[in-house]
Amino acid sequence: MSKRPRGKDVTTKVIRTQVSGGDQREHAQPIYLTSSFLFDSAEHARALFAGDKEGNIYSRYGNPSVDEFVERMCVLEGTPDGVAVASGMSAIFTPLGALLNSGDHVLAARSVFGSTHQIMTRILPRWGIDHSYFDIGRPESIGDHVRPSTRICIIESPSNPALDVIDIEWLSAFCREREIILLVDNVFATPIIQAPYSLGADLVMHSATKYIDGHGRGIGGIVLGRKPLIEEIRLFARHTGPAMSPFNAWMFSRSLETLSVRVEAHSERALALAEHLESHPEVELVRYPHLPSHPQYDLARRQMCMGGGIVTLVVRGGAERGSRFLDSLELVSHSANLGDTRSIATHPASTTHSSLTDEEREAVGILPGMIRISVGLEAVADVIEDIDQALTASA
Ligand SMILES: *Cc1c(COP(=O)(O)O)cnc(C)c1O
Repeated sequence: MSKRPRGKDVTTKVIRTQVSGGDQREHAQPIYLTSSFLFDSAEHARALFAGDKEGNIYSRYGNPSVDEFVERMCVLEGTPDGVAVASGMSAIFTPLGALLNSGDHVLAARSVFGSTHQIMTRILPRWGIDHSYFDIGRPESIGDHVRPSTRICIIESPSNPALDVIDIEWLSAFCREREIILLVDNVFATPIIQAPYSLGADLVMHSATKYIDGHGRGIGGIVLGRKPLIEEIRLFARHTGPAMSPFNAWMFSRSLETLSVRVEAHSERALALAEHLESHPEVELVRYPHLPSHPQYDLARRQMCMGGGIVTLVVRGGAERGSRFLDSLELVSHSANLGDTRSIATHPASTTHSSLTDEEREAVGILPGMIRISVGLEAVADVIEDIDQALTASA
C-alpha cells in the first residue's frame, strides 16, 4: 500500500514516505479516524482474516495513519518492521509480554527508566520471570549476571537521567553470541543521533511522547526491529490491544518531518548550556555526552553524531536546594516531560525516580540535587539567563 519513497537521504525519505488509503489525492495524509473498514465481499473478509490478502480490518489490528507512522520510523531506524503502541511503556511491556515465558530471565542495565524497573520488580515476578541488573558504567560485569535462562537484555543509552552511555555494538555482539535478544530504549538519542539496529540490536523502542512528537501533545510508543520478533509482538498486540490512536499516529508522522532539524537544534542548545554550567560556581557537576568531562566521552563521540537535548546537573546544596531552584525558574517549565520545544526541568529524586529506594537511586547515580534539563528550542541565551537567575535566587 505504500510507494517506495524518492530521494537518497533518510531525511528526504521520511518526509516523502506516505501510506495510501486508496486512490486519494491529498498532499498530507488524512487521519483515518475509523474503528473498522468495509469488506468488499464475504470472500474479501475471509481472505483478510486469513492473511491471504493485505488490507485493513479493524483499527486495533492496523490503520493507515498508524501504518504511515510505522513506515516512517522504519525508514529512520533502518529496521524492516515495527509495531506502534499507545505509549513508550507499552513499547517496553508489549515485547516482554510477547517474547518471555515463565522461567525466563531478563537482564537490564540498572539505570533503566523508572517504570521499566517497576515492570521487572513488581509485575514479571508474578509470572515467574526473574531479572538481574548490571551497572552500565561497568559493562564488563554483565557476564556475571547472564544465566542459561536469560532471554532479553534491556538497556537505555544515554540513560535517564545520569546520561551514561554503553557501547551498543559491543553489547549486541555479546548478546548475539548467547542468543539473548537485545532491546534498546533509544528515547534520549532518537534515530537521528544513533541507530541501534544498525549496530546489531534486535529491537529498538521509543516513547513517541518525547522527541518524536516534540511538542508535548500526545502519548505514544513504537517497537521496531527484526521481522520474526516483530511478527510475534504484532500478534500479541493484536490480541491484548495496546493500539496507537490514529490521531496520535497522524500527529507523530507530521512531527517526524522536522525531527532531524529539531534534534540538531536541541543538541546545539544543550551543548551551549552544558558548557556554560560547567564553570558555574553553584553547580557541582554537569553531565552531557558530548562534553569532554563525560566519563565515556570518546564512546559518546563515536556512537552518537550529536549530544542530544538533555543536560543533567547537580546543584550545590542537595535536595532542598534542588527544590528551591525549581521554584525559582521563571521561563523553564517544571514538568515531567522531555523532548518538547519548551525547556523543561525535572527533579528525578522526588518525581520520575521517587518509587525507588534511596539505595536504588544511589546505585543508578541519581543524586539528591540532580536536575534534568530538557533543553527546548527557545533562544538558548534566554534559557541560560533563567537558569542562572534561579541558581542565584535559590542560593
Ligand atoms: C518517557 C520514557 C519512557 C516511557 O514512555 P511513555 O510514553 O511515557 O510511556 C521510556 N523510556 C524513556 C527513556 C523515557 O524517557
